[in-house]
Amino acid sequence: MPKLASVVVDLVTTATNKPFTYSIPESLADQVHCGTKVRVPFGHRVLSGYVVPETPEPVANIRPIKAVLGQGFFSEEGWQLAKWVADRYLCYLVEALHLVLPPGSSDRLSLEQRVEYVGLAITEAEAKALIEKLAVRAPAQVRLLTALVSGGAQPRLELLRQTKAAASSLKSLLARGAVKTWVQVTDGSNKDHLEVIPPSSDPPVLTPDQERALAAIMPALKAQRSKVFLLHGVTGSGKTEVYLRVLAAVLAKGRSGIVLVPEIALTPQMQERFVGRFGNQVAMLHSGLKDRERYAEWQRIRRGQAQVVVGARSAIFAPLSNIGAIILDEEHETAYKQEESPRYHARDVALWRAQQNKAVTILGSATPAVTTYFKAQGEDDHFCLLTLPRRIAHRPLPQVNVVDMRQELLAGNLSIFSRQLQDELSRVLAAGQQAILFLNRRGHSTFVLCRRCGLVAECPHCELALTFHKAKRRLICHHCGYSKPAFDTCPSCGSSYVRDFGCGTERVVSEVERLWPRARVLRLDADTSARRGATDSIVNAFAQGQADILVGTQMVAKGLDIKRVTLVGVISADLTLNLPDPYAWERTFQLLEQVSGRTGRGEMPGRAIFQTYTPHHASIVAAQRHDYIGFYTMELKRRKRHLYPPFAEIILLRALAPIEKTAIKLLHQVSSVLIADKEVIVEGPTPSPFLKVGDKYRWQLLVKGPDLTAVRQQLAAAWPELTAAAGRVQARLTVDVDPLSYL
Ligand code: ADP
Ligand code: ZN
Ligand code: ZN
Repeated sequence: MPKLASVVVDLVTTATNKPFTYSIPESLADQVHCGTKVRVPFGHRVLSGYVVPETPEPVANIRPIKAVLGQGFFSEEGWQLAKWVADRYLCYLVEALHLVLPPGSSDRLSLEQRVEYVGLAITEAEAKALIEKLAVRAPAQVRLLTALVSGGAQPRLELLRQTKAAASSLKSLLARGAVKTWVQVTDGSNKDHLEVIPPSSDPPVLTPDQERALAAIMPALKAQRSKVFLLHGVTGSGKTEVYLRVLAAVLAKGRSGIVLVPEIALTPQMQERFVGRFGNQVAMLHSGLKDRERYAEWQRIRRGQAQVVVGARSAIFAPLSNIGAIILDEEHETAYKQEESPRYHARDVALWRAQQNKAVTILGSATPAVTTYFKAQGEDDHFCLLTLPRRIAHRPLPQVNVVDMRQELLAGNLSIFSRQLQDELSRVLAAGQQAILFLNRRGHSTFVLCRRCGLVAECPHCELALTFHKAKRRLICHHCGYSKPAFDTCPSCGSSYVRDFGCGTERVVSEVERLWPRARVLRLDADTSARRGATDSIVNAFAQGQADILVGTQMVAKGLDIKRVTLVGVISADLTLNLPDPYAWERTFQLLEQVSGRTGRGEMPGRAIFQTYTPHHASIVAAQRHDYIGFYTMELKRRKRHLYPPFAEIILLRALAPIEKTAIKLLHQVSSVLIADKEVIVEGPTPSPFLKVGDKYRWQLLVKGPDLTAVRQQLAAAWPELTAAAGRVQARLTVDVDPLSYL
């Protein structure tokens, strides 16, 4: 009886969404373990797959594994994590497995590289004779032989590249018996250049608040208890220093740690703080890396050469073992949730891994998610609240003024800047200080309209207004990316009364340049930061004082710690407030509090100005007063009334189809597989707020209940049938567990 293995094949379909049983040929017996990548026959095809530590189901007609491609792609914990993700977020097993695989995981990127070599199978003299014989008829084969005679055996791909020979020429030589091939295993490690960076900074003396927080965390660390701490610290209160001390303690115990930061906060400033303290024990995982660099970092982590991983969302899957602490900075950030399948939330993954590793979790924020703060309020000793209520060095929190833009209009001020903001900007510029201007919309204007015939430039695929981008001279759809050249004369009536309305970051820059011609302005948004490394260079230039004013979208609201910034201006606090999204109020409060936190971080006190048409809105008032608890109390009541988390679990199901009726019908079918339960509320089908994006109509179904475990099981069971039904009508069904975006 041959030994058997369970294999998950690398194919995303409902039919392949489970491990399959294969036999292990004698010759491969010592290479097949959990995490081995293999080639297996599947129906009439041959597929890649991964060996997983599940008991193989006995089945008829067991076929053998064809080949081993590499080993050590994931650990036992990695597989358990993938299973948990698939179950929790209703995605395919192999999709979840891809989260724990090495980045860019092709076969070449296995831990042990398997390189195919080619060498002469005959003597040099025989080879030379053959070269003579083939000289005219087969020049490619001659080049191959010549290279092998002069250079000796070499990797197949390099040989082919160097001689510009086709694989078929090599095959002919193989058939002649002139050459042979074999596979050589290398671990690739000799190619890594490990830069040794010694720790550089001396840690500061902790403040009493920091001491207190650390003292609360240490016992759990020592006892290896998987306790969770919410570190609620105002902006500039020194949360990062607490993280650093926790990590130092973890390393001293020979354990490892993960620090997650929102991608856009992963500035060189932030990286320096960790590398400065822990040198090259730190591995960085962020989108600024090239695939090869990212893979090299992954390997360092896997081999235990880096014990501290600092990275964005997906770094939570880093192949560390023996984790002692997991830290999520700015834990409320929506960037921790992946918006495509698998729609996981890094916070939940963190809690799962911490539990497995008996690690502490630290969730840090000045504006914790309402759901997180609620948990930390509970009686549960497992989840506790720590606070840093003051800024470092008794610096005051910025004074915030709210400006009612309706009054500006009444006073005849049509500018996008209120009189107060103009005065403050002039003051900052005169004093040689710096300012940040925040507007959560890129481009020049929100829509383009012909004032003669009323035509509004719309996206043909989304039926939504196009945004004018002045620098590119194009009209761009912010939903699907469609764009076309901007026009000065109306394409419909030919008039020249075409005007753009509304305001984006580009227009803020033009206005600053018009009003303060000598001011040096930088813009940071998705348009200016698209190029690799562009974010870093813009932030660096501003931090070094090469500009007076930084204008940007929410990219400027996070993480920046620049001492000469004494003014933050929010051009329109209402932008995010009025979105048809249950979390719009929370997000607005968080954004305002975070962005105002960028000012007054040095010796000079800071000030913030919020421009709004709704100055009495609860989110705005709470942010003005830095009153987190006030906001939390109000928002919690609202959540309870409308049954949103933490009082309910939510699953958002969406149907996308070229015909609107198809989408609706499909959702009725989804709804019909849910077993009636008086605790579970099903809302819809209703049209999604953005009804049509990229030629697809979008309708949705919202499922709410105190516990949706049963609903998840019902959906999982029905999913093969539902996706098949969707496929038949060119539609797509998506499922989002604990959704953060309702648009
Ligand atoms: P937060 O993450 O809470 O916004 P930071 O960790 O960025 O705050 O700290 C704000 C500033 O105070 C940073 O420049 C940091 O280097 C400095 N800092 C932190 N802790 C101390 C301390 N104990 N003594 C002196 N400076 C500190
Ligand atoms: Zn017109
Ligand atoms: Zn579009």
